[in-house]
Amino acid sequence: MAFRIYCSALITDGHRYEQRALVVDKGQVVAWEPYEPELLARVEPPDVDARTYIALPGMIDLHIHGGFGRDMMEGTPEAIQYIAQRLLRHGVTAFLATPLTAPWDAIRNCIRAAREVREHGSTGARLLGCHLEGPFINPKRAGAQPPEYIRPPSIRELETELGELMSELRIVTLAPELEGGLELTQYLTKQGIIVSIGHSDATYEQTLQAIEHGARHATHTFNAMRPFQHRDPGLAGAVLLHEELTAEVIWDNIHTHPAAAQLLVKAKGVERVLCVSDGTTGVGMPDGYTFELWGHRAIVQQNAARMVETGGLAGSTIAMDACFKHCAAALSWEVASLLCAANPARALGYEGELGTLRPGARADIILWNPHTQRVEYTYIDGILHHFESETAGDSNSVVNLNL
Ligand SMILES: [Zn+2]
Repeated sequence: MAFRIYCSALITDGHRYEQRALVVDKGQVVAWEPYEPELLARVEPPDVDARTYIALPGMIDLHIHGGFGRDMMEGTPEAIQYIAQRLLRHGVTAFLATPLTAPWDAIRNCIRAAREVREHGSTGARLLGCHLEGPFINPKRAGAQPPEYIRPPSIRELETELGELMSELRIVTLAPELEGGLELTQYLTKQGIIVSIGHSDATYEQTLQAIEHGARHATHTFNAMRPFQHRDPGLAGAVLLHEELTAEVIWDNIHTHPAAAQLLVKAKGVERVLCVSDGTTGVGMPDGYTFELWGHRAIVQQNAARMVETGGLAGSTIAMDACFKHCAAALSWEVASLLCAANPARALGYEGELGTLRPGARADIILWNPHTQRVEYTYIDGILHHFESETAGDSNSVVNLNL
């Protein structure tokens, strides 16, 4: 049955529209209707009174490893479902499960579990496939990726180790400057898999070669990449300058200074940058919480995860709603929604379907409370999902109630 969500405003595709009702039918946004607040005394079910909230398209996280004390590398559908359910509270309605550099059997288990969740349906945020981060990366720019499992790029090895699981891959992060890197870039591109340059020491010139071979994306820009210098612009300089590459940014104000993130948006434009969380097991966990990255201890400290051995950053402890807030504080809610919803959707080929509230899109909607700066309600396919407590182990419930 069709219903309307009456919002104080709706923000989508870089614009803001005041006093709109979103008309939702059969899981899709089918229309917007302006309304006069003074003429609308009551909102009756099944319509939804969200007149104090702003409606936004659900956010899409293309780079997330875990959260809430769980890790996708546990390799079970249950772990992925647990994370997917808790992402809803943070306004994330779709994501890519992101295995990291690890033994191949662990990577396989993670991708296999993700396939099972995708085929049977997530009970939380939609799972769109996998982003394989490593193992074909540069040891010089390993960051928190366990160095002992890094491998030289090899088409043969990838085919042999993953076999039919290759079809789950949507993005592969690799270092194209390594021997075999360009061949692998070309091979993956031909399969329709997005090659993202990351954990890479590529020079500016090597990056241009990678673009020629099909690379189209850059992994957590500025982090774990050859930096910009005016006589050696490096991978970071190429990301800033070349529009072929969409650029991930971890906008937690820790991995990236807000000025650097703004510089990136200024250089590339508001449509070529996208926020990712790079969230780890430590997302939503308190200071002092420790977890393991394949034999290396990490600890949550002041809104970041750090390697116990080195003190280096070990991924983030935030979800996309934090990126959204930081970006909105520096730029605007309209731009923040582009970076967190529309741009990641377009990068994966879901333009018009996800990451937008235009009529015809899936009704993946979040209701944002502008006073508390929190996501209050999340809809997937037009169905309202109750939020789970972030630490409890009980399962998610789906309801169809008026607010
Ligand atoms: Zn990562």
